[in-house]
Amino acid sequence: MTKRILLTLIISMSIFNLFGQGKKDKNKSEFKFSDSEDKAVFTCNHVTDEKSPILYVTHDNDGDWQFLCGQNDHAEENAKIISLKNAVELDNTLNELFEMPLGVGAERKGMGEKWNPFRL
Ligand SMILES: [Zn+2]
Repeated sequence: MTKRILLTLIISMSIFNLFGQGKKDKNKSEFKFSDSEDKAVFTCNHVTDEKSPILYVTHDNDGDWQFLCGQNDHAEENAKIISLKNAVELDNTLNELFEMPLGVGAERKGMGEKWNPFRL
């Protein structure tokens, strides 16, 4: 009797593990940046709260990344800090910019559009 319950428990756990594993693989996103995944990067509340697309990216001379919505009027209270991994999870196409050198920015007209680089 006890043996049977134990067996059922083991089987249930295996199924749970399989399910969990599959789910994890499915959600695993591509990450091409050479910076670490937990690097703090700047974004704005339009991206984090209002789900605006990231259309304006800069790679500052000090190594900081900024992933902004592209609106001109940003004040200090609009600034948000997330991890680089978070940013890539928000928009996987940011991986296209992984080789962008320091002192360069890029902007685009919409998600999936071509990035146009510019000097900072
Ligand atoms: Zn913004």
